[in-house]
Amino acid sequence: MLLGCHLSISGGLHQAVAQAEELGINALQIFSHNARSWHLKDLQPKELEAFKQERSKSSLEYVVIHTSYLINLASPKEDVYSKSIQALREEVRRAGQLGIPHVNTHVGAHVGTGIEAGLKRIVQALDEVFNSPEARECPDVMILLENDAGEGTSLGVRFEELRVILDNVKQSERLGVCFDTCHGYAAGYDFTSPKGLDEMLNELDREIDLERLKLIHTNDSKHPLGARRDRHEHIGRGQIGLSGFQLIVNHPKLRNLPFILETPKAADEAEKLNSAMDIINISTMRSLREDFQTGGAIR
Ligand code: ZN
Ligand code: MN
Ligand code: MN
Repeated sequence: MLLGCHLSISGGLHQAVAQAEELGINALQIFSHNARSWHLKDLQPKELEAFKQERSKSSLEYVVIHTSYLINLASPKEDVYSKSIQALREEVRRAGQLGIPHVNTHVGAHVGTGIEAGLKRIVQALDEVFNSPEARECPDVMILLENDAGEGTSLGVRFEELRVILDNVKQSERLGVCFDTCHGYAAGYDFTSPKGLDEMLNELDREIDLERLKLIHTNDSKHPLGARRDRHEHIGRGQIGLSGFQLIVNHPKLRNLPFILETPKAADEAEKLNSAMDIINISTMRSLREDFQTGGAIR
């Protein structure tokens, strides 16, 4: 089972890998820089070396970069739009340098200019990114588009919106999709029954193609079905519940994908609490698998 969580890089990229190893996980998501800042200073050879060395000693089988929350590929504001494109180009370059196959991003919000215009800007932005020297130099890096919870004017909420992007980006073979369970539930997809999950996956396959689904963000949802509220909860403590996640982790079409937790983190100083909650969420996820063997340690 490919399972892990988003970890902080506050001690450096290689520290996130070391922490993943301590948690006994084989999948990891990181920001490649301070996610609240537009500024991406070049990765130094020493940082790259430290990351690669730590990774080669680790049990990690899957790593993904999550882009900064500032990025809005649908923004009608010229400066935000161009900064978003530039930032995504940089993320692709970093992924290439670090040997990370996927850059996961939210597609953005149209901010009152309408769904159609917003989707069009996203397509143009992605075309520009894939045409950039950064993307050409890193041909193995794929960008994953994450489904959104639908707060405000955010896009990529329903599969048909993601489809418009996938159908229109020229180098769409370099695009994949990440399904976030909290976002999907907030958007109104009820996958908490076997029938509901099958129906949703059929729709996903029709609109997007299951082959494109590369990653699952496993987060419970604080708010009810269709609330369009993006508030993550610990696994089993929200509206999706343990039985919902049990279906997700065992479904034959999903079980081999990487599962990454983005469950709530306390403030930075509460490092011990965060790691305790990560351990609980990870072992909960693992215990839901049908092939789970009891009696073993968390690893
Ligand atoms: Zn995300
Ligand atoms: Mn997510
Ligand atoms: Mn979220």
